[in-house]
Amino acid sequence: MYPVKTNSLRVTSSFGPRTYTYQGQKVSDYHKGIDLVGGSEIVAFEDGIVTSTCNKGEQYGQACYVRIKHSNGWQTLYYHLKSGSVSVKTGQSVAKGQKLGIMGATGKATGVHLHFQIDKGSSSTAIDPYDYIFNGKELVPSNNGSKKSNDEIATEVIRGDWGNGQERKDRLSSAGYDYSAIQSIVNARLSNTNTTSSAERYYTVVKGDSLWAIAKKYYGSGHLYPKIAKANNIANPDIIYIGQKLLIP
Ligand SMILES: [Zn+2]
Repeated sequence: MYPVKTNSLRVTSSFGPRTYTYQGQKVSDYHKGIDLVGGSEIVAFEDGIVTSTCNKGEQYGQACYVRIKHSNGWQTLYYHLKSGSVSVKTGQSVAKGQKLGIMGATGKATGVHLHFQIDKGSSSTAIDPYDYIFNGKELVPSNNGSKKSNDEIATEVIRGDWGNGQERKDRLSSAGYDYSAIQSIVNARLSNTNTTSSAERYYTVVKGDSLWAIAKKYYGSGHLYPKIAKANNIANPDIIYIGQKLLIP
């Protein structure tokens, strides 16, 4: 899904630490979103509710923007829209793909582009949007319009789809699930896995996995990934395959 109506979207500045020139000055900061060019119509990345907008701005001054809150509690932010082009209002529900405005250069922008950002709701943590835009990673895990059983959700939780700690709690309750009921299923299943200590444990790789994330899941620390790599004769720990069965030592 692209947040812009176009077939050719390009990244001009990635998420993370960066250095660039702004009005003749060298600036270093942490880029909380991703800058995109191509097309001009900005569209909602996912269904949600508009939480705030600004429809009047100018380059190097006030930015025109739209912020949308989604059912998992996360927000998507669309910045530097063309002044006067914002076509949605605060409190309005929007559907995935619905027009929000036109790409522009209002605010702190050196040229026409979209600054697209994903924040994880309550913690206000920005995450790298790249995989969500270009690799089909889902912002809101799809439930085909109907709620899943607590057992199914527990499987997703163990797989890592719902995050950890407070984030998991927030996202499950925003999606209408009973956190404590699901968490007790998760705990029961995990303690079952741990008590079969004489048997070998295996993990099957799913979409979006990394050895780091798997190590974190089993050992509580991503730093221990070489242990899994070694047990499975993985030469390049950056390369694992969906469906690959990994021995967890
Ligand atoms: Zn940006």
